[in-house]
Amino acid sequence: MRRGLLFIVSAPSGTGKTTLVERLVQLVPDLVRSCSYTSRPPRPGEADGVDYNFVDESRFAEMAAAGGFLEWAEVFGHRYGTGADDTERLRQAGRDVVLVIDVQGAQKVRERGVDAVSIFVLPPSYSALEQRLRRRAAADRTQLQGRLEAARREVAAAGRYDYLVVNDDFERCVAQLRSIVIAERSRTAAADDAVGRIVAGFAAPDD
Ligand code: ADP
Ligand code: 5GP
Repeated sequence: MRRGLLFIVSAPSGTGKTTLVERLVQLVPDLVRSCSYTSRPPRPGEADGVDYNFVDESRFAEMAAAGGFLEWAEVFGHRYGTGADDTERLRQAGRDVVLVIDVQGAQKVRERGVDAVSIFVLPPSYSALEQRLRRRAAADRTQLQGRLEAARREVAAAGRYDYLVVNDDFERCVAQLRSIVIAERSRTAAADDAVGRIVAGFAAPDD
């Protein structure tokens, strides 16, 4: 079975990456979002094991010390990490996995030499990002300035990503993300069993 690909999606907080990736995984078969671990408390409406695996600080520290994370980072005062085993299991089962992680996390994955396709999502403008953050939960609004300052730093790292997309029109952006996934799958299709069988069927009789 083909080992699943690893996709990374990063964007400044409030850009819409969570909403985009939720839609993307609904549309594309065999594409799943990795459920990260975090030490931050759940927001209203968030469920454990769905939005994140919510753990306390000490459990997070234990997992980090045991090498349980592919990467982890501190973002806005809380820790977030990608479970190494969870991701590996999904990829072994042939599923392509999307990590929705911040720019520090993406950098750590690159530094580990892990083969990943990285996508940076830009908001249409600074002011559009500010509006999206204001419309979101009250807890985010109190951290508005911090998130906007972080956005300035994060956008500066956009050039290190393989792909850049702008989340202006939502559906158009989802379609662009879908195209990227399909194109990357086609690049690696030579390793796919079905493609291998077709190519083998073209071998000359005396080959
Ligand atoms: P992130 O995960 O990047 O922090 P969210 O997915 O939580 O962002 O989205 C932030 C807000 O922006 C949400 O209220 C979401 O509905 C809204 N949003 C997402 N995409 C668009 C878009 N293309 N146009 C307008 N609003 C959007
Ligand atoms: P939020 O608290 O708004 O859900 O997420 C805050 C930030 O943490 C976002 O930029 C999000 O992408 C990032 N994040 C979520 N999970 C992970 C993770 O596993 N690793 C890293 N490095 N960042 C993450």
